[in-house]
Amino acid sequence: MEIKFTKTTAPKEKQTKNLGFGKVFTDHMFVMDYERGKGWSNARIVPFENLSLHPAATVFHYGAEIFEGLKAYRIADGSVQLFRPIENVRRMNNSAERLGLPQMPEEDMLSAILEFVKVEQDWVPHGEGESLYLRPFMFGNDEHLGVHSINNAKFLIIASPSGSYYQEGINPVKIMIEDQDVRAVRGGTGYAKCGGNYAAATRAGEKAEKLGFTQVLWLDGVERKYIEEVGAMNVMMKINGEIVTPMLSGSILPGITRKSIIELLKSKGYPVSERKISIDEIIDALENGKMEEFWGCGTAAVVSPVGELYYEGKTYIINDNKIGETTQMLYDTLTDIQWGRAEDKFGWITKI
Ligand SMILES: *Cc1c(COP(=O)(O)O)cnc(C)c1O
Repeated sequence: MEIKFTKTTAPKEKQTKNLGFGKVFTDHMFVMDYERGKGWSNARIVPFENLSLHPAATVFHYGAEIFEGLKAYRIADGSVQLFRPIENVRRMNNSAERLGLPQMPEEDMLSAILEFVKVEQDWVPHGEGESLYLRPFMFGNDEHLGVHSINNAKFLIIASPSGSYYQEGINPVKIMIEDQDVRAVRGGTGYAKCGGNYAAATRAGEKAEKLGFTQVLWLDGVERKYIEEVGAMNVMMKINGEIVTPMLSGSILPGITRKSIIELLKSKGYPVSERKISIDEIIDALENGKMEEFWGCGTAAVVSPVGELYYEGKTYIINDNKIGETTQMLYDTLTDIQWGRAEDKFGWITKI
């Protein structure tokens, strides 16, 4: 795939302090257009700028939007690498298929990501725990209001140098189990990484925040009986020595961190099972001292220990509000691979 490059004439000063997350953007962005019948065309890397869109564009009215999130890591020898980018490409195509958006050949999407990172590699920060967060996204762009299948779309990649997720060390978070709103149902869009899922989750997230919680833990949309995932992370726990995580049921986002952790645990011989986990089982484990560890996992945090769960008016403390042994081991192992401090035994790393 040929990518046309238009270099910015006004490079920005590279901010190195107080990066935060998703606030600072690099000098360029990748853009590509889709038209039914013609396919994807005009791959280009252009100066970062606002988009100009028709007010009737599909995305504004019918929510046809999907995205991905991955990081570029700077390793000790100064070079830059990605973690399992092909998994993001495949998931993006699965999300596109669900939302009626066009798919893109895997090798094209992957080379768009790699080429774009190559152009922006000086923006990959050098600090401990810092990375260049990449945000590929796609949206429907037909310029009329009729409800119809999508004939025009755009695919973009933007990048944001981001600070360490754990500036104050890894502290266990407080999570509220949501028993009113649901995030997704089987047959819906739960397994797709689409903006609409986030829009539907905002109300519960706001409620949780007001009550002093970091995020909500969702229950299944049908029986409100089985746990699914938290805000933007999958969940795992160690109950009575067994590591368990909700099975992918169609309403849960298939996290790449989740998948990597399962592969890692299995390779180390840990008992790990993907199955339905009912809220009753969780409460029983909490009340009877069987809940040893509980953590969220996703690209942004890698793993995030949960120290407190709130459900129906009751607060439960996990592992004395401290990070557990398995949680810490997973964090160390994954980040060592991502930042090139450990051997890449699984073939997860793509060098730029
Ligand atoms: C992106 C995301 C995750 C985590 O996926 P990773 O590939 O591990 O980053 C989990 N849940 C939701 C809802 C997400 O959007």
